[in-house]
Amino acid sequence: MTSVYVFGIILAVLVAAVLIAPLLERGEAVGTGSSPADHLEVALDALREIEFEHETGKLIDEDYRTLRARYAADAISARDAGAGSPGTPETGLCAVCDASLKPEARFCSRCGSEVAG
Ligand SMILES: [Zn+2]
Repeated sequence: MTSVYVFGIILAVLVAAVLIAPLLERGEAVGTGSSPADHLEVALDALREIEFEHETGKLIDEDYRTLRARYAADAISARDAGAGSPGTPETGLCAVCDASLKPEARFCSRCGSEVAG
């Protein structure tokens, strides 16, 4: 009987390890060891999130502007570090977040980053 009990505990520990492992890996990916592509993705996710929270009234204008500037700078530095393709005004898309731009636009209407050229 005891061996069955021990086997059950081992099985439970293994199942717990399998469930927890992806969570730990995810935590590491968001940390400092991530690649530029991951870094860019994290910054763009953050931009979308603060935009949503601003629209729903959870984020005041001042905080929104501060955070947006920070994450846009983050996204630009990640892009310059090698993530994604360099954007140009000719593509009509924002180099940072891929939003479509008006031909005369100097700033992206979605993420607020400056349009080159
Ligand atoms: Zn943009």
